[in-house]
Amino acid sequence: MSALQAVVERRGQQIFGLVDQHPESIFTKAGFYQKMMAFSMRDETFKVQMFRFVDVLASLRRSGDIVAHLREYFRGMDSFIPMLQTGLRAAGIFPWLTAFILRRNVSGMARQFIAGRDGADVMKTLRKKRKEDIGFTVDLLGEAVVSEKEADEYAARAMELLETLARETRGWTDPLGKNTELFPVVNLSLKISAFYSQMDPAAPEEAIAHLAPKLRPILRRAKEVGAFVNFDMESYAQKNGTFDLFKALFTESEFADWPHVGIVVQAYLRDAERDLKDLIEWGRKRGTRFAVRLVKGAYWDYEKIISSQNGWVCPVYLQKPESDACFEACTRILLENEAIVTAAFGSHNVRSIAHAMAYAEELGIDQSRFEFQLLYGMAGPIKRALVEMGYRVREYSPVGELLPGMSYLVRRLLENTSNEGFLRAKFSDNLSTAQLLRDPKELITPEKASPDGQRNGYHSAAAFSLDTPPGDTYENAPMVNFVHRQTQEQMKTALREVRGRLGRQYPLTINGEKVTTGKWMPSLNPSSPNEIVGSVAEAGIPEAERAVSAARAAFDKWSRTSVEHRAQLLERLAAIMERRRFELCAVEVFEVGKAWDEADGDIREAMDFCLFYAQQMRILGRPRITQHVAGEENYQHYWGRGVALVIAPWNFPIAILCGMVSASLVTGNTVIMKPAEQSAICGALLMEMFEEAGVPKGVLNLLNGDGAVIGEHLVNHKDVDLIAFTGSREVGLHIWKAAGETRPGQRELKRVICEMGGKNAVIVDSDADLDETIVDSVYSAFGYQGQKCSALSRLIVLEENYDRVVERLLAAAASLRVGNPQEPGITVGPVIDEAAYQRILATIEAGRKEATLAYQAKDVPKEGYFVPPTIFIDVKPNARLARDEIFGPVLSVIKVRDLDEALEVANGIDYALTAGFFSRSPANIERIKAELVAGNVYINRSCTGAVVGRHPFGGFKMSGGGTKAGGGDYLLQFLIPRIVTENIMRHGFAPEETPRYRDEFLVRRPGSTVVEK
Ligand SMILES: Cc1cc2nc3c(=O)[nH]c(=O)nc-3n(C[C@H](O)[C@H](O)[C@H](O)COP(=O)(O)OP(=O)(O)OC[C@H]3O[C@@H](n4cnc5c(N)ncnc54)[C@H](O)[C@@H]3O)c2cc1C
Repeated sequence: MSALQAVVERRGQQIFGLVDQHPESIFTKAGFYQKMMAFSMRDETFKVQMFRFVDVLASLRRSGDIVAHLREYFRGMDSFIPMLQTGLRAAGIFPWLTAFILRRNVSGMARQFIAGRDGADVMKTLRKKRKEDIGFTVDLLGEAVVSEKEADEYAARAMELLETLARETRGWTDPLGKNTELFPVVNLSLKISAFYSQMDPAAPEEAIAHLAPKLRPILRRAKEVGAFVNFDMESYAQKNGTFDLFKALFTESEFADWPHVGIVVQAYLRDAERDLKDLIEWGRKRGTRFAVRLVKGAYWDYEKIISSQNGWVCPVYLQKPESDACFEACTRILLENEAIVTAAFGSHNVRSIAHAMAYAEELGIDQSRFEFQLLYGMAGPIKRALVEMGYRVREYSPVGELLPGMSYLVRRLLENTSNEGFLRAKFSDNLSTAQLLRDPKELITPEKASPDGQRNGYHSAAAFSLDTPPGDTYENAPMVNFVHRQTQEQMKTALREVRGRLGRQYPLTINGEKVTTGKWMPSLNPSSPNEIVGSVAEAGIPEAERAVSAARAAFDKWSRTSVEHRAQLLERLAAIMERRRFELCAVEVFEVGKAWDEADGDIREAMDFCLFYAQQMRILGRPRITQHVAGEENYQHYWGRGVALVIAPWNFPIAILCGMVSASLVTGNTVIMKPAEQSAICGALLMEMFEEAGVPKGVLNLLNGDGAVIGEHLVNHKDVDLIAFTGSREVGLHIWKAAGETRPGQRELKRVICEMGGKNAVIVDSDADLDETIVDSVYSAFGYQGQKCSALSRLIVLEENYDRVVERLLAAAASLRVGNPQEPGITVGPVIDEAAYQRILATIEAGRKEATLAYQAKDVPKEGYFVPPTIFIDVKPNARLARDEIFGPVLSVIKVRDLDEALEVANGIDYALTAGFFSRSPANIERIKAELVAGNVYINRSCTGAVVGRHPFGGFKMSGGGTKAGGGDYLLQFLIPRIVTENIMRHGFAPEETPRYRDEFLVRRPGSTVVEK
């Protein structure tokens, strides 16, 4: 055993000895809270339901609602939890009494972790703690800040709290009376995201520009009154921005000599050691002492889920002992640099604490020169033990009302009941002292150690079999994570480079040849319409004819090319897109006005279409037995339909075009692709990439031109067998009709895959989590200027919540960043072109006569097609605003009585594309799942952002023909099914079994060439 380990064990045992004199009361068996925790640890389902119930309770006003939620959350569980049985029985007889008791109990629980309602209230707690020689850092709880109005209010409250603390603690002295200059009595912890609602990881400079002016007055005042200010750390997305802000502010001359500032380092992050060394380096250059609170981190599950959903490298360690070991490594770094940094160890883990004590002893650092920080309401006996041992103890004391306090409370409940948590291990599972004090490095399972750079997929391709549901094993391409400075720089460089070659000309591609026509169509930058992004050759009827002939001629060979060969073409294309990713994003920013992350989402989706359809076609491409019957083999397999015409919109300029083209090609069709005029350069680049990937001559042909001329000609062409269209209702219905007519010489009945618009509704229930509702609704309505087919257009709000929703919604919309999307962090850019601009403004003007225009942005750029984000309220369900598709940044808010009326309004429309619901009522959520009429129904999340394989996308009614892009059955639309039956009985004898799948039927048709496999 190392000398250090021996001291760790000694100190640890000493703490445990003191702790065991006063066991942790929250883990005893008495009382509501204790019972609830015990059940939660015993039963995971109960735990989830209980914590969800706690989360919603504070927002319920009526007794009936509380009782209804109680029943909904715990249906079926009462039989094995007697406390619930009694509660539910009582609820039926005296609902008000049950509601009262529940509220009281949950408030009691919250009070256990929340030190006071406001500044005055918290002082009672702080005075009590002072008597126990425990210091404080106060944190102001708040709802998620969704607008600048709320951010300003938060800043004002923080200032008020600071004043109260300074005033009320005048004359208080340091409990240890030693090295007091390092540890001011007043200590304020600030949650940085609460000071600016539009913090975007891609735009750290912009965040600093907004945050610094808001924070300076508080910092100035704190410095004046001799207080300490700490920047708390939140999710990984905010981490770099928070560090940058800290360094920027405290290097300013006004604050450069101020030692009483601190920041948090989270040891569950793989970046932790590097970040800490960086900070220390900065501190040395600054030349003034500062502080670091070392913690493990509060958002472990969240980080794991978010990184998995986006395909990112998981930023947190995956094994608990890895976080513990990192905490110890950072402890050593902190203590070794004690000359410049004051350490605060934020942990309830006796091993982590004892290690810090032991290492400080080894370095000869006096125990009054660092401190232990613990959370209010947790690990009381440990705090007491540390005080008795003469260490400096500070309690993290949240202040706030019950409603905003609920998410904090739930985090604490999770922490207390976590399977991996120290407190549970010690106080509930009663692990031995020796086990609890082991060196975490010894507990890391090396083969499972989290390697740097590993993506954390929840679904694994290893589980893949031919019978697994489509999409289930598909691992999506990762999003670009603009948290990293490197990706920010890559995007800026790409924007510069693409700007340097704007104006290029792109020919048509017909039968592998580059064709120009003497006519060029310019594509303009909607942010700056004088700028030509590029020009494309304009095709006329003769070029359209040549393209059809080329595609027709190429079909025979291509349709008989092996599935594997076709699938690999798409995979090569995806790899090329990955290589050119930032360049493609930059082109989208210029050509269609997409913000950075929206542009990246489009490229990711395009790559996903390629990879997903390749995977799906490999499954479909193998002839599959239809039924096992003795003496006969029956195989179903597919052929391509023929020549496909792909007509795509500009709003997902590469993804939708690429999706429809790649689906056509992988299924063996040959293609004429016609990008939208407004996004012709994106189309030309896609053609270029398909060629690099090796698409054979004539198999894919690029035609640009006037839809009314060449589009119309091709739709009616006898040699076009399939039309894949995404676009407006007007054009979609016209194509649907035209395709129904059979022309002389036509071989096939035309198949139309038709995806059109929506008038998408989101319903807000009376118990909805408004933080989530507002953020997601604003993003759904105004992200990409409301020009996604999935965009939210009608927000239907139950009257009980209406005023509060409207108030927060208008403030949130007013905080959005509108501007040129070349800048990072922009949410609302320009609409696509002059025609759209004029049409949307006219719709807004007309809307004024129908409803109340409650909000319209004022400060939008003068140049470019910037339509101000606009919100109408009190819109009647039958108003044109509420019925016609607008395709721009305009949101209509409709008030309804109850959920029945909400459903009637939501469903009483021509369209059925996307729809959403925000609620915390399990029964209402189930009802909506069954009754909301839309192709894609989203609950408690944004109604945009469908992911290939996960959320197959497409609508019905006047939104489309019911097909699902990115779904397991999408490719079937592009195929003709065929059955081959063979009698395998000879003289009464037949094999007992036939295989389920067999190789492809790759026969020659008369006149066709041999096909590569
Ligand atoms: C005073 C104070 C202030 C704090 N301030 C912040 C803050 O600003 N920002 C912040 O994010 N956190 C903060 N925390 C930390 C957080 O709230 C938890 O309290 C803390 O992470 C619990 O760690 P522990 O050492 O007490 O307990 P332990 O039980 O030893 O550790 C639990 C922690 O280990 C990590 N973990 C759990 N499972 C795994 C796993 N499978 N693999 C890897 N790691 C895992 C998680 O971080 C978890 O919280 C603060 C904590 C305190 C005490």
